[in-house]
Amino acid sequence: MARILDGRRLGRNMGPALRARIAALPRPPGLAVIRVGDDPASAVYVASKQKRAQRLGFHQESLHLPASTTQADLLAHVARLNDDDRIDGILVQLPLPGHIDATVVLDHIDPEKDVDGFHPENVGLLSQGRPRFVPCTPRGCMALLEDAGVELSGAHAVVVGRSNIVGRPMAMLLEKAHCTVTLCHSRTVDLAGHVGRADVLVAAVGRPEMIPGAWVKPGAVVIDVGINRLDDGRLVGDVEFGAAEARAAAITPVPGGVGPMTITMLMHNTVDSAERRLAGRSA
Ligand code: NDP
Repeated sequence: MARILDGRRLGRNMGPALRARIAALPRPPGLAVIRVGDDPASAVYVASKQKRAQRLGFHQESLHLPASTTQADLLAHVARLNDDDRIDGILVQLPLPGHIDATVVLDHIDPEKDVDGFHPENVGLLSQGRPRFVPCTPRGCMALLEDAGVELSGAHAVVVGRSNIVGRPMAMLLEKAHCTVTLCHSRTVDLAGHVGRADVLVAAVGRPEMIPGAWVKPGAVVIDVGINRLDDGRLVGDVEFGAAEARAAAITPVPGGVGPMTITMLMHNTVDSAERRLAGRSA
């Protein structure tokens, strides 16, 4: 049976070192979280982020704006937070209501405070192999792989899903770690064949258990980013966990794998930013 890569445990283990870095700062790290409208999943994600930031003693600014907020109003809030010296990280929770262009909003966040790592300047730096802010979910996946001691150099990594938030930056990070990377998506022909050749498989699609465990190469390491709620209320990933667990060397559970690490990495990105800004340096 596969070893379980436990994101809650790893997050807890990383806590003391992070707290020591926070204690060494002359002021608490500052995180601003903006939520627009009442998307229920966003409410849950934002609450978890705020709870973790509170436990770490962050300075927080939380804005919950009505769904009717105009793009201009939202941009004005972003501009104010860009100019607020106590704020090291600005996060605009996605998705935004349909009348707001998320790309325009994310482009307006000061790239030095872009703790989600979605600003084109930060995406560019990552693609050049000199990251400033690494998007939180892929950074969390890499931390899980590193903690498990997975040998990445020369490994064949297959990433399923090519979103800007998860799949694409994940592929970049694995390539930077010297994997040979295959990036699969909805037009990929013979997904089963690609998955079957993966030493490291990262699934980030958003379809419940769409990757049968029988596709997984024996001895592979499986990182399941998917979070899918079934009609009976259960949360499952993109990989058929039971059958995959029987074949893989290591696997992340859903929940309790990548999800908690995403929040841990948001805290790390904010502390990284505070350290850089207080030292008066860019990345
Ligand atoms: P997106 O919907 O933005 O992207 C999904 C990707 O999956 C697309 O690239 C799409 O391809 C690809 N895809 C869709 N159908 C197939 C298919 N049949 N075969 C192969 N590829 C397919 O999703 P996100 O990247 O934002 O999220 C993915 C999952 O991860 C979701 O379940 C989400 O909830 C979860 N998530 C979890 C986080 C965590 O903290 N654990 C954080 C962020 C997301 P194409 O580009 O061709 O359309």
